[in-house]
This record gives sequence, structure tokens and C-alpha cells, in this order.
Amino acid sequence: MAYTTSPQLALRPLVHELPAYGAGRRATDATSAALASNESHYDPLPSVLEVVQTAARRMNRYPDSAAPALRAGIAAALDVVPDEVVVGPGSLGVLQQIIAAVCDPGDEIVFAWRSFEAYPILVSLAAARSVMVPLAADESHDLEAMAAAVTERTKVILVCTPNNPTGLTVEHGRMSEFLSSVPAHVLVVIDEAYVEFVAEEDPLDALALFRAHPNVCVLRTFSKAHGLAGLRVGFAIAHTDLADGLRRVGLPFAVTALAQEAALASLRATRELQERVALVADERNRVARALRRAGWAVVAGQANFVWLRTDDTLRERIVDHLEMHDILVRGYRGDGVRISLADTLTNDRVITALGDRSTFAAAR
Ligand SMILES: *Cc1c(COP(=O)(O)O)cnc(C)c1O
Repeated sequence: MAYTTSPQLALRPLVHELPAYGAGRRATDATSAALASNESHYDPLPSVLEVVQTAARRMNRYPDSAAPALRAGIAAALDVVPDEVVVGPGSLGVLQQIIAAVCDPGDEIVFAWRSFEAYPILVSLAAARSVMVPLAADESHDLEAMAAAVTERTKVILVCTPNNPTGLTVEHGRMSEFLSSVPAHVLVVIDEAYVEFVAEEDPLDALALFRAHPNVCVLRTFSKAHGLAGLRVGFAIAHTDLADGLRRVGLPFAVTALAQEAALASLRATRELQERVALVADERNRVARALRRAGWAVVAGQANFVWLRTDDTLRERIVDHLEMHDILVRGYRGDGVRISLADTLTNDRVITALGDRSTFAAAR
């Protein structure tokens, strides 16, 4: 049997109030298609696997917490200096460092909703307040409303582009205009977890905005396009004084040597990764076209998933129906269904299982 703590030993009330993170369901057998977590559908690259296997032989040792080689690699790839690079256990880990470094209890963090489900959890954990600004009717960020939501207590604005779970990006011009209306005491974090998948003509250039604005920082991850979700490594590009603060609040040794070496090897495998990313982008467009032809409203997302906005009845039907076909996707109460992209055959299973929207909605 399990023992419980003494009743006098109370958890902080905020622990009970934290929103739960509903992780995407994981496939439990070989036939199930796990399309609920935006992971890479590809096996690790052989070159990356090899360095991880070699690094594993030294796992009796702590990693170098400062991650000098990885930071230098990232800095060279993105044309910043290593002091502007902060690595952490996933970009989520880095975001937690940002909030810990910047927010006191009661401070406000503004972000669009629906966006990444982890945001309100990290905000609550810091006893800060989530100020959630509804997406516009066309699913885009309502930047005017977000700017209007800023108060003296606002410390951070999170802009997720492409947005999870809708996939839409923020245009560079709109973002630039927005930044000029944000007061200097507010840090704007541009979360670019899916940036590698963007195939737009004039994409948002977050690094240019970082250079132009002292209150902007950029979050990136090795979890999505690089396919290293299981190793937990992401990073921020931040101005040096902020970067320094982020390193101070980070858990020592949070990024393992395996993760550091894998990330560095992955940076060197740009060509292979670009091929994979191009395949995902092609599939995204193909699946979106097929679903639109079948009557589903699909926005022009730029990430590794497609988004179906639905009411709750249709959402439940879609999630249940796809599950009957061994396809696990992610439903969001009040908003819709997100389906991660996979290989062509698996994506075809999704298209076939959904079928015609009017038939689907009528038959069930
Ligand atoms: C997946 C994701 C992340 C990355 O999480 P990691 O902690 O790096 O695995 C960050 N932001 C968004 C919006 C995401 O969807």
C-alpha cells in the first residue's frame, strides 16, 4: 500500500490550482498512429544517434552546465554571439527560466488563447497571472488586443508563431508594428518551436526583431524539426544581461551531455533535416488540400500539424472516430482538433477516416 503525508503537511494552494497538462496520448502498439504530440515522425538521424551512443559511455559524469560547444554552434548558425544563447531542458525549460527571472508573484503574462497548453501552467507555477487574449475570428493573433491588455503589472508577452495548435504565423510587419507599441518594461518572447516548417514568402524574421528591440527574446527547440523531443533541449536567444539572468535561475546540469551532443550533431545535419522538413511541408499542403476538398475548413498552417476548428460535439466525434481507426490526435475543449503530420500513408489514413465533412457530421 501507499502511505500519505501527514495532514498538517500542506501543499501550497497553487499546486492544487495548477491547470493539468493534457499530454498527447502515446501509441501503445505498432499499428496506432501517434499524431497527438507534434513529434517528428522520423527515426533519429544515424549521425545523431552515433554521437549519443558515444556520449552515453560517459554518463557517469555530469554534463558541462555551460554547454559551450552547443552554444557556440547555435551562435554560429544564427549569427549571434554565444553569450546571447541560453540552453535549457526543452524550450519549455527555458521559458520557465524566463518567467522565474522576470516575474514576481501577481505579475501578468499576456498571451493569445488558444495557444500552447503549457503556458498557463508555467505562469501559475510562478504565481503570476495569465492574461489570455482570444485569437481573432480568422485564428490570427489579435495583436491590438494584446497590446491593449498590457498594464503596469505586465512583465512578459508570449507570441507563439507558428501558433500551436492553429499553425498560423504572425506577419513580420504586424509584429514589428506591435513591438513599437509595447512598453520597454515588457519582455516579448517569440516562441518559434515550429519555425523550421514555415514555407511562407516573407516569413517573420524574429532574429532581426531581436536585434532591433532590447526587449525581445526568441525561443527555439530541438524537439520538433530536429526530432529530439525525448532528449529535452531547447534554447533562447536573449540579450546578454537577460541571458545571464536566465542562466542564474536555471537548474544546474539540466541539459544532459547526450542532449547537448545530439543537438550539436543535429545542427550539423542541416541538409538531411531540410529534406525531412520539406517533406512535412509538402504533406501539410497535400493533407490540407484534401481535407478542404472534403469540406473541412483548414487554415493555412505553417507547422507540422493541421488544425480543425470544431464545436465540442464534433471534436469528440472526430477524436473518437479516429481512435477507432487507431489514430491518436489531440482534441481541445471549446476549440477543435489538432492532427500532427506523419508519413504519406499515415496521413492518408487520416484523410480517409475523416472523409467528407457533411457525411461525417450527419452520420454520427
Ligand atoms: C513543442 C513546443 C515547444 C517545445 O517544447 P520543448 O520543451 O522544447 O520540447 C515550445 N513551444 C511550443 C509552442 C511547442 O508547441
